[in-house]
Amino acid sequence: MTVQVTFWGVRGSIAAPGKKTARYGGNTPCVVLTNGSDGVLVLDAGTGIRLFGEWLTAHQPATRRIDVLLSHVHWDHIQGLPFFKPLYQEGYRIGIRGPAPEGRSLEEVLRQQMDPVVFPVPLARAGAEVTVDELEPGRVTVSSWIVDTIRLQHPGVTFGYRVQAGSDGPSIGYLTDNELGGGDRHGLAAGWYHDLARKMAGVDVLIHDAMYTDAMQRDRNGWGHSTPREAVDLALACGAKHLVLFHHDPAHDDPALDRIVDQARRLAAKQGSLSVDGAREGQTISL
Ligand SMILES: [Zn+2]
Ligand SMILES: [Zn+2]
Repeated sequence: MTVQVTFWGVRGSIAAPGKKTARYGGNTPCVVLTNGSDGVLVLDAGTGIRLFGEWLTAHQPATRRIDVLLSHVHWDHIQGLPFFKPLYQEGYRIGIRGPAPEGRSLEEVLRQQMDPVVFPVPLARAGAEVTVDELEPGRVTVSSWIVDTIRLQHPGVTFGYRVQAGSDGPSIGYLTDNELGGGDRHGLAAGWYHDLARKMAGVDVLIHDAMYTDAMQRDRNGWGHSTPREAVDLALACGAKHLVLFHHDPAHDDPALDRIVDQARRLAAKQGSLSVDGAREGQTISL
């Protein structure tokens, strides 16, 4: 079984288009997984999902089942959803899943993002058949994927996912908006890091937040993001084969990201054979 992982949005916090970010890309998080079955699995609905929707409806119109896993409901992870073309077309079945935000339901937050005050078309007028389900930490089957969810260290309720194609297919760890160091655990238990590394053990690809440089991280303790160094350490601890640095800071232009990726590669090379890349919009990894 071949799994393809395609990056449609790799930027954190807010879209950062322009000449200076053209190589890595400016859209906010959206990663699409396919495994040869009928449907697709979409990780996060940042602005990159708009491009994916355009592509899907034009090039793969027979694909009508779309499963979306949201890491959390910060803007950069949901703001592409109102511009996702299949949402407005009959015949699509879109299953949206994610953690329940504190004090609200997931569906309520998604509806509020499309309230008439801020967006002209309410979610209730979507032509597609849309379901919204809240996940708990644990294991769930989503179409042909086995999905393990785990709480991440980030403000608000945020989930990371280990996604496996069937019981013995390739596996992907998707851990964005996650602070691996830091003093604020956001209510998580002390053994959390160990549990996270165990849950991600042996993944073929680990996609991890590497938003801050070491210098930035010193001033942003508790903000819920990691450095390339911390992402490399986790990838080595869990025995990942390939680390993809993700959720790039909007202020980091292409040369800055080249330096960040180089630094992470040097750190990884000292300790083994882990391969490291910086996520680039339009990139596809085949497993
Ligand atoms: Zn984010
Ligand atoms: Zn966030």
